[in-house]
Amino acid sequence: MTGGPGGEPVIRLSSAAFTYRGPPPVAALKPTSMVIYRGEHVAITGPSGSGKSTLLNLLGLLDKPTQGSIEIDGIDVGAAPERERAAVRAHRIGFVFQSFHLLPYRTSIENVMLAQVYADEPRRRRYASAMAALAEVGLDHRAHALPTALSGGERQRVAIARALVNRPSLLMCDEPTGNLDTATTLELTDLLGSLHRAGTTLVVITHNPVVASRAQRQIAIRDGELAETPQPATGSPGPSPGTGSPGPSPGTGSPGPPPALPEALPPADRAHGDEDTHAFPDE
Ligand code: ADP
Ligand code: MG
Repeated sequence: MTGGPGGEPVIRLSSAAFTYRGPPPVAALKPTSMVIYRGEHVAITGPSGSGKSTLLNLLGLLDKPTQGSIEIDGIDVGAAPERERAAVRAHRIGFVFQSFHLLPYRTSIENVMLAQVYADEPRRRRYASAMAALAEVGLDHRAHALPTALSGGERQRVAIARALVNRPSLLMCDEPTGNLDTATTLELTDLLGSLHRAGTTLVVITHNPVVASRAQRQIAIRDGELAETPQPATGSPGPSPGTGSPGPSPGTGSPGPPPALPEALPPADRAHGDEDTHAFPDE
């Protein structure tokens, strides 16, 4: 089952724009209206500096639109107080970043359990649900390994388990395969495909045309403006293994150099800065 127009909206942007104050001000996202429906798999592509991370920061409630509104699950979160935004972020959005952002001296399962602290999951339930999330990404057998003992692909699987453990409405990935080799990228892309088929709503920002081609919808962004790439009207139920023919969309552009600006911080760090300081669970 895949989502789509007619389904339930997970995210709705209404003329949402974002301008970095500067000086000088940078209009990084022009007024944008779009809806992401439950069960969709959306890829966002665009050259470096085009506004991808800015858009992700809005969709992930890490920043507020400087204009317009954003709703998640029907909740108007653009104007909500920071405490409420942090709660929506912790419960409804899972983040996966290019550089994994795992705590180096914590095992896989401890890293996953950390996300549950932010979502106020009762301690006695954390272990079992963290283990279940690791099983979902095929890594329960590495639950007690430190990140340094894992390959890049395995680290990203732990990060995905951490993003999924609170059963978010939306899984948001910013260049999830950016640090992975080609074979591992394909494995990760297959994993994202299977999570999508199991009902996860996915937004994937990527420079990689193969990764983007697995999505049902491709949105190109250039100079802060979105353009949807028309998809073949086959009603095909999303990605299937082996159909990953690269189809670079117009406007995807060349990958270019890595962005000069820092990527968004992991949600834990941001929440940390804004709100009460949670210590790591002592057990
Ligand atoms: P992408 O993720 O596609 O590489 P970004 O969303 O990071 O692009 O950046 C979009 C535009 O906003 C770029 O012109 C960039 O220079 C600018 N920008 C990003 N972050 C800041 C910031 N903190 N202050 C000012 N300008 C910024
Ligand atoms: Mg970026």
